[in-house]
Amino acid sequence: MNEISQATETQAAFARLAEEIEGFYEGIRDLPVAQPVDLEAIRAHLGATYGSFASAQPVIEVIGDVARMLREWNTHVTHPRNFGLFNPSVHLASVYADTLTAAFNPQLAVWTHAAAANEIERMVLRFFLECLGFDPDTSAANFTTGGAEANLSALTVALTAKFPTYGMDGAPGNAVFYASVESHGSLGKIAHQTGIGRRALHAIPVDEHLRLDVDALRRQIAADRAAGLQPFLVVGTAGTTPAGIIDPLGEIAGVCQVEGLWFHVDAAYGGAARLSSELVLHMNGIQRADSVTWDAHKWLSVPLGAGMFFCKHRKAVEQTYAIHASYMPSGEAVDPYVTTIQWSRRLIGLKVFMVLATLGIDGVVDLIDRQTQMGDLLRGKLKERGWQVVNRTFLPVICFTHPALQGDDARLAALLKRLVDGGEVWISQVSLSTGVTALRACITSFRTDEADIDALVDALERALEGESANG
Ligand SMILES: *Cc1c(COP(=O)(O)O)cnc(C)c1O
Repeated sequence: MNEISQATETQAAFARLAEEIEGFYEGIRDLPVAQPVDLEAIRAHLGATYGSFASAQPVIEVIGDVARMLREWNTHVTHPRNFGLFNPSVHLASVYADTLTAAFNPQLAVWTHAAAANEIERMVLRFFLECLGFDPDTSAANFTTGGAEANLSALTVALTAKFPTYGMDGAPGNAVFYASVESHGSLGKIAHQTGIGRRALHAIPVDEHLRLDVDALRRQIAADRAAGLQPFLVVGTAGTTPAGIIDPLGEIAGVCQVEGLWFHVDAAYGGAARLSSELVLHMNGIQRADSVTWDAHKWLSVPLGAGMFFCKHRKAVEQTYAIHASYMPSGEAVDPYVTTIQWSRRLIGLKVFMVLATLGIDGVVDLIDRQTQMGDLLRGKLKERGWQVVNRTFLPVICFTHPALQGDDARLAALLKRLVDGGEVWISQVSLSTGVTALRACITSFRTDEADIDALVDALERALEGESANG
């Protein structure tokens, strides 16, 4: 193939991509948010079209076919009427960024090998360090695949800092750490992976507003010490996954200070609240953390996976990930492969950089505040129509139920099924540790507007009427 036809094919492929993406977003409100999945149909199509990859197919056709599969056999998390888990609509600048990343494929493991890419990430991370109230000159920060990896980094670095034997010989058998019963499930897996064991995670009860109960934390620490255990860390969650609750970060910081414990804040979802002048006060205390997890792919409108790990103790981070490999080029600046979990490293941060660069920080904050306002609007409209909101948060996560359901979980589940089967909206169900099972709606799209909120409230009302007619 000569160069002209090569260029033509690239342009045609990108034109087709642009057409597919534009078409998808233009028509997104006409698509069901979620649709029943026909596993057999998907497998049959894949088998019939691609078989054992015996034939080579034109890329334009493959692009069209894959786009169709993604449109038809997929829950559309970027749909403005997806009120689901923390998966956002993505700003197109971040899509362009991921395309550039894939095309140039910079290898960030060693600084000199991808100097521009590394400096782009460093600039973004320093910006967020400052926003967290961490000193960018003495802290460490890196992009991760997501919150789970960032939380794993936090626990591993904390174990390294707190137990001098950990790095060479493993953790002491009596190391324990704390997080609320509403904290994220990744912590259990991390307890397993780090070798301290799942039993090392002591779950602390919550108060009536689902916030970690600090008195219970103090009592548990005292009891554990009396039993000969070695507490080393407390996780405060800023934006719990079930209900968007922010733990009392300042009070937990105080306990950690008195007890000599590492304070980790899991702000995988809620981190973005730190950027908003309306929400920032609710994040107070995060600046006292030893480490923070913050996912850009949750509330900063970029595609999966883009997590971030921040740590005030750069020495401990360097000690944790120190390694020597003769085959790696040596660099001038600190190399990511000796300061983070990953070895080969993709340019994760470009999508965050390009959203910040093209919207400006004020534009990014507008998207966050807009979603917060839509959350307030939904909360208000639900209350007006007789629903009971059962969580108290300023973040746009609303857990709610209705008196007509009489606390009957089976009826709630039936209502949810009726609602979701309609395809017009998507919400989920959650069991809170207050004992309440509720419906859960989170504003995850910067495109969600008042008409979408009305559509949700109307659809809920219809599903409720259907349920009452049944019950
Ligand atoms: C989503 C979430 C995580 C896990 O993050 P991933 O990006 O899914 O790996 C951790 N903690 C909290 C509070 C979360 O909401």
